[in-house]
Amino acid sequence: MTRRARLSKADRELIAAARSAIKARYRNDWQEVGAALRTRSGKIFTGVNLDAYLGRMAVCAEAVALGRAVVDLGDAGIDTIVAVRHPPPDETDQTIAVVSPCGACRELIFDYDAKAHVIVPNPNPSLPRKRGRGGSGAAVVPIADLLPNKYSRGPKT
Ligand SMILES: [Zn+2]
Repeated sequence: MTRRARLSKADRELIAAARSAIKARYRNDWQEVGAALRTRSGKIFTGVNLDAYLGRMAVCAEAVALGRAVVDLGDAGIDTIVAVRHPPPDETDQTIAVVSPCGACRELIFDYDAKAHVIVPNPNPSLPRKRGRGGSGAAVVPIADLLPNKYSRGPKT
């Protein structure tokens, strides 16, 4: 599948699930990102990031959501995944917006499902943006598009 600027109902549900997760567990400087993934079997798992005093111990929300899926179902694949950021209280815009996965999460998502799709902020400025809503301002892209020249331990055979 190629890039889609228009989100499906299922995509919007996934964004809503990620928003609910971080709304429920937001803690300034500790939990600021929520994620939701849909497995190939259609089940939704959510996660929030785990920040840590020792910064390198921090874990991304996508990894937590994936961990919950693997514990419950084993390797069930990733149909679609999304992350959203809850702004800190002093930020003027309190929109919980879709954010791109970090580089490490791109590797992780690809490892668990090379055909996964990711909902990302829509960089196309010509498309209308409706803040605070699940539908606009986001696009669905294949994980492979977000990770050209993926890390490999050796040459492909
Ligand atoms: Zn990450």
